[in-house]
Amino acid sequence: MGLADLHIHTIYSWDGTCDVKAVLKRAAELGLDVIAITDHNEIRGGLEAQDLAPVYGVEVIPGSEVSTAEGHLLALFIQHPIPKGLSLEETLRRVADLGGCAVAAHPAARGMNSLTPEAIRRALAHPDLARILVGVEAFNAGLLHTRSNSTAQALADTLPVARVGSSDAHMFWMIGAGATLFPGRSAQDLRQALEARQTQPVSGQSFPPAEPADGMADALRAARGGLDCREPRAGPSPGLGAVIEGGEYGGLGATAKPLPPNPFLSPPHLQPRATFHVPVPGIR
Ligand SMILES: [Zn+2]
Ligand SMILES: [Zn+2]
Repeated sequence: MGLADLHIHTIYSWDGTCDVKAVLKRAAELGLDVIAITDHNEIRGGLEAQDLAPVYGVEVIPGSEVSTAEGHLLALFIQHPIPKGLSLEETLRRVADLGGCAVAAHPAARGMNSLTPEAIRRALAHPDLARILVGVEAFNAGLLHTRSNSTAQALADTLPVARVGSSDAHMFWMIGAGATLFPGRSAQDLRQALEARQTQPVSGQSFPPAEPADGMADALRAARGGLDCREPRAGPSPGLGAVIEGGEYGGLGATAKPLPPNPFLSPPHLQPRATFHVPVPGIR
């Protein structure tokens, strides 16, 4: 079985805090086989990560979290950006034109510009769009309201789509906090699993959140073992609200560069504190 985190932001997102190399390094350390870089209405982070990926031993799916007129949609396996603000139907057609597939990000989640169950069902009623909208996030580790995961799981159970787990990481220590288990190991295996509805969401969240590095790797290892697969559970989440202080972190040798306040982000607890740069041998 393979493990993928299909929803990761980098500094190419207006609210991202983690550069591409740091994402790849962290994903490799966690043993993730595949990651998707899904910056808001951007593709550059995904393309940069795809170029660098072989050095890290992680396969990258270039993607984008597209702000459709009806809510956020993960466009995966694309090489070009998709304009924001289009209808869900038109956005899905653009994804199809680019040879990609799509997953509904944090469906029905409160406060997060999410697709409604009605919008998702309307799209799935079109056979040609149903071939593109292959999954929904039944577990998103970055929710503002963690109870929205229960809503998403209940929704996913009623839809003929793959169930995906994602971190929605905007900070490097959140990578892998949600993941998707799939038969095989490669990005192509994952795509087949999505289209065949054979994926399973898992949680890599660790408690307490002060020790994410070890706990998350253990949780993901357990998930890969299959027998001890942890279903995501409701409860307290480190989420985006947890605080990162600058300086050395987690034994990765990461250095944190403080960021100025982001005027687009309120309340204050959502303000990213720093950009992380993780040194990698042989790579500047
Ligand atoms: Zn989103
Ligand atoms: Zn996101």
